Amino acid sequence: MNELDFSFSGLLRQRAGTVVPVSSVAAAAALLADTGGRAINFRGAGHSFGDRCISDGGLLLLNRLCDDVRVGTDHVATVPSGLQWHEVERQLNQNGRSAPVLTNWLGATVGGTMAYGGFGVSSYRRGAQVDHVRRVELLDAQGRQRVVVPGDPDWSVVLCTAGAMGMVTSIDLGTVPYQAYLEEAWIACQDERELAGKLLSLAAMRLDVEMLWAQISCEQRLIGIGRRSDVKQSVLPGLLAERSVACTAELRTWESWVAAQSARAFPRSRAYLWSDYVVPASRFESVFLRAYQLAYRPDIAAYARPRIRVLIVDRQFSPRSTHELNPVNFAGEELLFGIGVYLEPLLDRPDVVASARAGLSDLLAACVEAGGRPYFATWHEMNSEQAALAYGDNWRRARAALAAGGASPLINPGTMPPL
Ligand SMILES: Cc1cc2nc3c(=O)[nH]c(=O)nc-3n(C[C@H](O)[C@H](O)[C@H](O)COP(=O)(O)OP(=O)(O)OC[C@H]3O[C@@H](n4cnc5c(N)ncnc54)[C@H](O)[C@@H]3O)c2cc1C
Repeated sequence: MNELDFSFSGLLRQRAGTVVPVSSVAAAAALLADTGGRAINFRGAGHSFGDRCISDGGLLLLNRLCDDVRVGTDHVATVPSGLQWHEVERQLNQNGRSAPVLTNWLGATVGGTMAYGGFGVSSYRRGAQVDHVRRVELLDAQGRQRVVVPGDPDWSVVLCTAGAMGMVTSIDLGTVPYQAYLEEAWIACQDERELAGKLLSLAAMRLDVEMLWAQISCEQRLIGIGRRSDVKQSVLPGLLAERSVACTAELRTWESWVAAQSARAFPRSRAYLWSDYVVPASRFESVFLRAYQLAYRPDIAAYARPRIRVLIVDRQFSPRSTHELNPVNFAGEELLFGIGVYLEPLLDRPDVVASARAGLSDLLAACVEAGGRPYFATWHEMNSEQAALAYGDNWRRARAALAAGGASPLINPGTMPPL
């Protein structure tokens, strides 16, 4: 297995004709301007199902645009798209700043998360990473350099369209002040129903905290609440006791959290079958319980290391989304829940791989039926009808804007539902 023949999920096998690492915008522009009629795909860290980022016989551009982050006097940072988020955060911290939202796995590149939205535990207060972008530089289908800012006709589809508009080369990102400590409160739940009920009631309390999420493994079902601070102090147990919620609390440095979220190995012995489902609060419990039943079915639980993570976005506090296909851009909904289901079956158990895959397909159908939207893997698997159902007017407007903006079927094909 190498970069020419990449099958991250262990299910698809596609072989790029040519692989080209690029470390300058000029080199990327030259490649796009002269593809010889071949399809071209972009790759950052290659973790959004790397096999999907490849066209058989096509060009594969490996993004190595990794210059330093520049922080302006207005605290807006210019960030090259090839940098991984842990490196962006390290450089911002040196400048006394932080990214408003970080993904839970910090090995993803800026370009990779801009293609989908980018969510993390701080999304509770701050929405998606793309909601903090002020300016995008990209190379279009002909390799022409373009700058797109809010209000431009292409703004609504320049991000969150899986690279359909071209290669993002850098973004200008609003930042927040650096804070040295992170306080986390943990609420342990007996079972999945208790977790769903407690999470809904905590979300309804609209606590003045930065982070609210849940994580489930075979061993535990936990709700997490987080708050960053300049000083080493514990306030969450008191805040939760006022609402009769018992918890345990932990205080750590921000650096230790960043380091923990950056370390992750992906052994080749497993398939990585992951998808997220975004639903409004009223549909959360039913879709979550369905996801739980799939992930912890005995045949899957024994061989696929199932984990579920729930992220929450409260639109009352976070910025409004200006991108049509941002999965939390739901008209009229304030509280959105993202249910991430992560299955990693052993490749030498093809029966478990097949059941996990079939289960995620069922969940995709259940999510769309419940008025939700898939994120990542099963986002690619939707057909146009499902996409229209899930995204409604946003899908129709995005299609029109992509067509008007010159999106080409030869640019990053296979990464979003057919237009
Ligand atoms: C363990 C793990 C945990 C994760 N947790 C989270 C999480 O908490 N929140 C979250 O939001 N995501 C999460 N993700 C998903 C991750 O953010 C996405 O998969 C992201 O796309 C990965 O970035 P990448 O650099 O690997 O992208 P790649 O896999 O290289 O690319 C992803 C897509 O983006 C396109 N693309 C890449 N670079 C560019 C560019 N410069 N311009 C245009 N298009 C481009 C690619 O063509 C492809 O379609 C997680 C992933 C993993 C592996």
